[in-house]
Amino acid sequence: GDFATEVDTLVIGSGPGGYVAAIRAAQLGQKVTIVEKGNLGGVCLNVGCIPSKALIQAGHRFHDANSSENMGITVDKVNLDFTKMQEWKSSVVNKLTGGVEGLIKGNKVEIVKGEAYFADKDSVRIMDDKQAQTYKFKNCIIATGSRPIEIPAFKFSKRILSSTGALNLTELPKKLIVIGGGYIGIELGAAYSNLGSEVVVLEGGKQILPGFEKQMSQLVTKRMKKNGVEFYTEALAQGVEETENGVTVTAEVKGETKTFEADYVLVTVGRRPNTEEIGLEQIGVELDERGFIKVDKQCRTSVEGIYAIGDIVPGPMLAHKASYEAKVAAEAIAGHPAEVDYLAIPAVVFSGPELATVGLNEKEAKEEGYDVVVSKFPFAANGRALSMDETEGFMKMVTRKEDGLVLGVQIAGTNASDMISEACVAIEAGMTAEDIALTIHAHPSLGEITMETAEVAIGMPIHIV
Ligand code: FAD
Repeated sequence: GDFATEVDTLVIGSGPGGYVAAIRAAQLGQKVTIVEKGNLGGVCLNVGCIPSKALIQAGHRFHDANSSENMGITVDKVNLDFTKMQEWKSSVVNKLTGGVEGLIKGNKVEIVKGEAYFADKDSVRIMDDKQAQTYKFKNCIIATGSRPIEIPAFKFSKRILSSTGALNLTELPKKLIVIGGGYIGIELGAAYSNLGSEVVVLEGGKQILPGFEKQMSQLVTKRMKKNGVEFYTEALAQGVEETENGVTVTAEVKGETKTFEADYVLVTVGRRPNTEEIGLEQIGVELDERGFIKVDKQCRTSVEGIYAIGDIVPGPMLAHKASYEAKVAAEAIAGHPAEVDYLAIPAVVFSGPELATVGLNEKEAKEEGYDVVVSKFPFAANGRALSMDETEGFMKMVTRKEDGLVLGVQIAGTNASDMISEACVAIEAGMTAEDIALTIHAHPSLGEITMETAEVAIGMPIHIV
């Protein structure tokens, strides 16, 4: 017979949404079970954020070793053992997924391996290779994430790669075509270019990295072009022919048909929420017109007791947004008055230089009717940036004219991914440019760029005129 196991909170999926939700729910006193059909840690830890950043970092090291002659450092020959690099990358992933398993267990959350499917509004069937089990829950948090969009003319294969395939190559491509100039395509394209591959980027729109100001994305294209990357915008990829040793991609570039040859093609044209195979229609969970699960400010779906978080709900598909919603959902289930507030979700591109943005940019602030002051400060005027030989880039701060309230910050420059956190705190805390300008920042540090951009906003910068 099949007796149902009863739990307080059942979490489906163990990515940065699911595992964080499970831990927080357990911390708040719930009996929690988490179901995962693949590897603990989801896309982010296994085939997303973490392995991509490991490859990017390896690319920077390799590239820097070959290009530090400004500092008087020249190297005769830098070698790359790609297999060893991939082993190192996997070891980073394994450390983190092992760590997540320890954290889940340490919080007394039960882990069930298998695929969950809704049987009813208060129960799921969990299937593994051998058997099916029923779990009855009081509350459920769906965190099944997303997967790469596969376009029919480019079925994923040995040489037609999704981001997962591109992260797990066993040889360094001599030539790589990247279809799609979003952040995933640009990060992976730049990483392989730094490691020595010839890279061609085909972007359908007018600009790569839509969502970032043109001035910011141009810094990235400039550096990548210097490294030999070719860019084609308004390039619509139409088909691919796969041979034993490579691919030939046909694309219409500004109305003209062109062919491109390479040993691999990476297709990164977006991601789709995993909402189809879990029985949502069975229990009446409502989706929006784009296929994402509709939720309110406490991450509740249209069905009582069922919550949804992360890539399967509307909003940016980012790990930190998933983890944030995870905590809100777990707290809402525990009866706390938690609510999502999307004022300050940072977005980062780990390119060279890095791009980071949070809050409103100039155009968005004006569209929302704000009277704004926009201040800007160059990395080249910062002592630390100079001593790092990383002088490219700038910070922009958008503040409300009447009182200096920080509405948004955009950074293009080295370590922007870390620098943006201060701007996130400033926006969350409702700080003004003056608050930041009057805060003592360590010298010499890139953080001083934030202080100086705020000084520009109040009209009194020390290090530029
Ligand atoms: P996921 O991480 O997708 O996890 C969902 C989990 O649910 C999976 O493990 C899946 O196996 C499981 N699952 C699905 N269906 C079922 C079922 N029926 N039963 C049981 N288990 C199920 N974001 C950033 O913030 N920063 C970055 O630098 C970054 N880099 C990225 C790089 C790449 C190459 C990619 C692809 C993504 C990147 N992302 C990044 C995005 C980030 O990975 C996602 O936003 C994040 O993983 C979403 O978390 P999630 O918990 O919603 O879902």
